[in-house]
Amino acid sequence: MAWRHALLLDPAASDDPGTDFAATLTPIDPAAPALSVGELSTQRGDGIFESIGVVDGHPQEVGAHLERLAHSARLCDLPVPNLTQWAQAIAAAAAECPPGECVIKLILSRGVEHGPAPTAWVTASSAPDNSVPRHDGVRVVTLDRGFDSGAPARAPWLLLGAKTLSYATNMAALREAHRRGAADAVFVASDGVLLEGPTSSLVLRSGDRFVTPAPGAGILHGTTQLSLFAHLADRGHETAYETLPASALLDADAAWLVSSVRLAVGITAVDDAPLPYDPDFTRELNAYLLSPRD
Ligand code: PLP
Repeated sequence: MAWRHALLLDPAASDDPGTDFAATLTPIDPAAPALSVGELSTQRGDGIFESIGVVDGHPQEVGAHLERLAHSARLCDLPVPNLTQWAQAIAAAAAECPPGECVIKLILSRGVEHGPAPTAWVTASSAPDNSVPRHDGVRVVTLDRGFDSGAPARAPWLLLGAKTLSYATNMAALREAHRRGAADAVFVASDGVLLEGPTSSLVLRSGDRFVTPAPGAGILHGTTQLSLFAHLADRGHETAYETLPASALLDADAAWLVSSVRLAVGITAVDDAPLPYDPDFTRELNAYLLSPRD
């Protein structure tokens, strides 16, 4: 069984300097029920989360994940998370991680209806074995996201740039991809703009240039893509955010889906049309992503 550790945070804890946050973290039995039946907000998906990769006990890109947690909280009108408390909870969970790859999840929900405070917890478990997709790449299908790229600005209540607990449609897209014989999907806005995967960011290569869809179109700004672009820029490559048509994926010299736990997987085919795949370069990207990153 996957190894697990869980901590409950007290989101009502004071953030006065000198607060002992260790005292606000309660280890809980990950196998035992922890949510109250009254926790309707979690049942409705009214909350936010983060998934952080951990390699040999080192939690990756904690600062970027905490920034995005705070950004998601702002978009969802949740109380501003106390980032020092969350950072200590992440460190405590990471200290329990065995060698190898693990995943730490941060969850913040609106809490019990009419209750005094949100509910917040952190879990750690061993990561799934992603060696096959990292090595072999994945076939993808393009799927209509069902809204145009102007929807995020027109309808901010869709919370499109937030990492909310409402992932039912993202999971449905993955099942649809499997039904169509692919391992993953790439969302395309209804006006033909390339977006992201259901659980990953899209990176395209054209010669020496790496591009990713601009975050404004209703996608999550990925921490892995940010980190990878900094690394590629250090190595002298050009990087850019652009509004891209769906055809850009088929025209790319190579393309990857990147995310915190699975890391970089090359796209080998799009809607059954083969895409050039570079296993050596993908291995290099994953060697960087597996190195300690802050
Ligand atoms: N886009 C979506 C919709 C995601 O769910 C994720 C990660 O789960 C990403 C992009 C990639 O984000 P990150 O690199 O921070 O894991």
